[in-house]
Amino acid sequence: MSEQPGVLAGWKPGKIFGRLDCESGIRMKPENRVFFHSIEDAIAQGYRPCKKCKPDIPAELLSLLR
Ligand SMILES: [Zn+2]
Repeated sequence: MSEQPGVLAGWKPGKIFGRLDCESGIRMKPENRVFFHSIEDAIAQGYRPCKKCKPDIPAELLSLLR
């Protein structure tokens, strides 16, 4: 997790992550936003993929979401 822009954005209150250009993400309040440098990082922090922009989850990480 990082305060610096990474490749993915996370929404703290809902623990959701998605693409930086996701329209859901653009509406987030800045104080609720976090950034991840990889999908592994986001999942390791307990975040779940956004249903709107559907970040590509590598098959080996899918089991971690269940
Ligand atoms: Zn999204």
